[in-house]
Amino acid sequence: MFLYLHEGTLSGNVKKDKPILIMEDKYIIDEDGLLYRVDIPRQTNLARLKPMTKRLCVPLKFRHDMISYVHDNCGHYVAKCLFHTLAARYFWKSMFADAVEYCRTCDTCQRTKINYEHRYAPLHPLSVPEELGTPFSMDHKVLTRTAAAGNTAVLVVVECFSGFPHLIPVPDQTADTLYLFGGYIPRYIATNPLHF
Ligand SMILES: [Zn+2]
Repeated sequence: MFLYLHEGTLSGNVKKDKPILIMEDKYIIDEDGLLYRVDIPRQTNLARLKPMTKRLCVPLKFRHDMISYVHDNCGHYVAKCLFHTLAARYFWKSMFADAVEYCRTCDTCQRTKINYEHRYAPLHPLSVPEELGTPFSMDHKVLTRTAAAGNTAVLVVVECFSGFPHLIPVPDQTADTLYLFGGYIPRYIATNPLHF
């Protein structure tokens, strides 16, 4: 773009030249020989206040230094704020992506900032059983109606290593009943801790 506006020459490559010709009126070279991107606000109210925005186009070799200077010296902005700060005065196409990438890789930010976006409850997975008869899981399956024998639920005890289930009908789901009906559970459950 700079070469075209400065010297009026094109590269001869249609793919490269076409966007230059289309975007030609968005760029100007000022008296200092610097390339600027010119934007005219679409909203008429805004256009009345500030009819034109002139932003300096930054060559590739200065971009990293510019981002790091603003980010490191202005309180380690997040990518969005960093982008808006830079975009108010400067222009290059991949500015937002570069800002995101820089913030993502900033050592200080990674060490000090708390990530509020993805907060999950810590997981406490059950240990993997290594032998038969050590961990058991148990729960009640509530019946839709009281059975003829007066039972309202089925106590399901699963031996975790083998996955073998023990189904015991119980009259209610209280701790006393659970303790009482523990006798129906195979003998080894009583000698091993239960894992809920
Ligand atoms: Zn940072």
